[in-house]
Amino acid sequence: MKTLAYAAQGPATPLAPFTIDRREPGANDVQIDILFCGICHSDLHTARNEWRNTTYPCIPGHEIVGRVSKVGPAVRNFKAGDTVGVGCLVDSCRSCASCKSGLEQFCETGMTFTYNSADKHTGKMTYGGYSSRVVVDEKFVLRVSEKQNLAAVAPLLCAGITTYSPLNTWKVGKGQKVGIVGLGGLGHMGVKIANAMGAEVALFTTSPNKAEDARRLGAHEVIISKVEEDMALHTGSFDFILNTVAASHDLNPFLNLLKRDGTLCLVGVPEHPHPSPDVGNLIMKRRRLVGSLIGGIKETQEMLDFCAERNIVSDIEIIPVQKINEAYERMLRSDVKYRFVIDMSSLK
Ligand code: NAP
Ligand code: ZN
Ligand code: ZN
Repeated sequence: MKTLAYAAQGPATPLAPFTIDRREPGANDVQIDILFCGICHSDLHTARNEWRNTTYPCIPGHEIVGRVSKVGPAVRNFKAGDTVGVGCLVDSCRSCASCKSGLEQFCETGMTFTYNSADKHTGKMTYGGYSSRVVVDEKFVLRVSEKQNLAAVAPLLCAGITTYSPLNTWKVGKGQKVGIVGLGGLGHMGVKIANAMGAEVALFTTSPNKAEDARRLGAHEVIISKVEEDMALHTGSFDFILNTVAASHDLNPFLNLLKRDGTLCLVGVPEHPHPSPDVGNLIMKRRRLVGSLIGGIKETQEMLDFCAERNIVSDIEIIPVQKINEAYERMLRSDVKYRFVIDMSSLK
């Protein structure tokens, strides 16, 4: 099926209109007309080959909300007209220990990401949500509540699950002091979700002008991470810190803020690695430095339901697809409030 899209043709070329071929839906497939697609910083890292693994043409986009337009004959859970979501994964082996535990993001023989991943069906690469429609196996399609603002739900499919999963895995909740580092797409969802889980939430930011927003979004405290004296006031006081920063930086100032047995979880994947933190900062208080990758399909559905029950969505700026390149530049300047979402009806 000929499908309109926006593609990067190389690391330094702006994204531009491009036509791709999508497969016709097979027995287990759901064909989705894309309504909205969020812009994740991973899209920018990939479009510009910052992780040095991009195959061109590259069509990013893994925060997809759309409407089912057709289903294959064996599809059980979806029908034409349903409102659905697709996140970062579109397939996995389904038989390894991780897949059997609902942790498809850690598939041991290789998961298929929504874009820039080897496509089992076409032998080419997968193409993401900066396009007018997508065809996905029903096991990787999520149910989205009709009652919410659909454009604002789209970012939950990556930013939502990437912050929910570690907060859930390390059992963040009442009585705990939790830090979120960086108020961007991931960070603002982290603030909302950690607050909804009952934690006392502090936001660490490099942008003092975001302090008021952070409080509105659910932070009980805002700490300007560049001000050493402010950081020092919190030494040894945090149970858990989730670091969403998209650029390389020193992790020691954050490790210092953890209690004994506290955890610093990294989810940002900068182009250049962070300098190795001081080992003493880990061993003296048995602190943990961990990482987390999106979330499995079951947990993603659980997160969508958790957010729907509490009316949690992303704070978004809607843009037409023609503004993608401008949005990337603003994202690089930390100038997003707090996620760009493409209105796909602008793709004609
Ligand atoms: P984003 O919207 O650009 O937000 C990143 C935030 O980090 C910025 O808003 C800024 O917040 C802070 N920041 C940026 N540059 C900084 C610097 N030089 N020093 C200190 N702080 C800086 O990006 P995002 O979409 O949330 O993604 C964040 C990172 O997570 C990216 O690397 C992305 O690839 C990665 N990611 C990982 C996963 C996963 O599964 N692990 C999933 C999705 C995304 P302040 O202005 O508040 O300081
Ligand atoms: Zn993402
Ligand atoms: Zn597997």
